[in-house]
Amino acid sequence: MASSILVLGAGMVGTCTALHLQQRGFDVVLVDRRVPGQETSLGNAGLIQREAVEPYAFPREAGFLLNAALGRGAEVHWHARGLWQMAGSLWAYYKNSHHQPHARAAEGYSRLIAHATDEHDLLIAAAGAQDLVAREGFRFVYRTAEAFDKAAQRADRLRTRLGVRSQAENTARLAQAEPALRVPLAGALHWLDSWAVNDPGALVQRYAELFVARGGRLLTGDAASLQPQGAGWSVQTTEGRVAAQQAVLALGPWADGLIRTLGYRFPLFIKRGYHQHYTSPAPLRQPVLDVERGYVLAPMQRGLRLTTGAEFAPIDAPPTPVQLAKAEALARELVDLGKPLPEPPWLGARPCTADMLPVMGPAPRHRGLWFNFGHAHQGFTLGPVAGRLLAEMVSAENTLLDPAPYRPARFA
Ligand SMILES: Cc1cc2nc3c(=O)[nH]c(=O)nc-3n(C[C@H](O)[C@H](O)[C@H](O)COP(=O)(O)OP(=O)(O)OC[C@H]3O[C@@H](n4cnc5c(N)ncnc54)[C@H](O)[C@@H]3O)c2cc1C
Repeated sequence: MASSILVLGAGMVGTCTALHLQQRGFDVVLVDRRVPGQETSLGNAGLIQREAVEPYAFPREAGFLLNAALGRGAEVHWHARGLWQMAGSLWAYYKNSHHQPHARAAEGYSRLIAHATDEHDLLIAAAGAQDLVAREGFRFVYRTAEAFDKAAQRADRLRTRLGVRSQAENTARLAQAEPALRVPLAGALHWLDSWAVNDPGALVQRYAELFVARGGRLLTGDAASLQPQGAGWSVQTTEGRVAAQQAVLALGPWADGLIRTLGYRFPLFIKRGYHQHYTSPAPLRQPVLDVERGYVLAPMQRGLRLTTGAEFAPIDAPPTPVQLAKAEALARELVDLGKPLPEPPWLGARPCTADMLPVMGPAPRHRGLWFNFGHAHQGFTLGPVAGRLLAEMVSAENTLLDPAPYRPARFA
């Protein structure tokens, strides 16, 4: 009989984990309180980021920190209660963002990122989701020559060291490539091997449909009802309590809440982010990150999506989309956004760890329980490779890469 396993959470990470376990012969039940891909994996910028070989460090420039503290700029917003709740993890994140620990984290991160597009590619083909994905890269754009020059030097280093391909574009070349830009900018880096998804939630749904078409069971249920049952685990679903020999927690930003009930205190925190769609009469050809202002514009099926930087607030605090208003004003300097679609701003939360590496592997003190969360700014990118690595660990086969840097036991 096939070994049974529950996967709790049907975002990009959980859905890909379920697919990879299924592929290895497990009898998999994928459980979520909503339909797949309706939370963080829906509202992101849709970028499959082959260029993101270094995890996002805590910015350390004095000017940036002062602006953030004073609530200036669009990059950061904070609630006092959020900072208070996350203070310990944020302090550890700050320390880990020093040059040396960050370089170590980047080693672990870049090894995962290196497989991100290849692993997506296999699932995109199997799920027939080519219509959702553009493979023409995206741009970091720069308003000042100083920032552009520095970024071009970093891009050269990444090309030489890690094979990340990019093309530096000067003012004229950028204007030619993106005629929708209404002002001349200092330049851009065009990341050539990154992909753009025009409906991120739909991609997760296609992957989930593939899982079901291959015989997987997708159930509605509450992960908070997880409990040990015999030598395994069970969870309450709308079809009754479902038991399995093993379970995987892939709850994205909600993982912390659940693992706390199991007695784990990991240095996790969240960075909330918003999006809004605009009618934009002259849409961009490819997504754009306005690096010095900290927001992304990404053409989507629904319109031009504007996504914001980090908000440090409790996961359940009411929305305070002040960054969205600021980013909208900044984006209007660059493109004709048109009108916002008549819908409330979307709010989600990046699931982050203090050492900037995801948590993937066996739960340190619970047999048959596995963790797969904490993919921060790149969980949409990393879902397929994270799912594969976790499934390889569960089935005790040779792993694609050394899983040691991501082991949950590093925090236990
Ligand atoms: C504004 C913004 C822009 C981003 N842009 C990008 C980008 O361009 N590229 C990129 O790679 N990443 C991006 N990210 C990050 C990325 O979206 C996340 O890292 C990723 O979606 C996390 O996936 P996940 O599956 O771990 O979590 P989720 O997608 O949140 O999935 C978790 C699932 O768990 C379920 N769940 C939670 N609690 C329970 C419960 N009690 N019972 C049952 N089910 C439960 C939820 O319903 C949800 O379906 C962005 C994030 C934000 C906020």
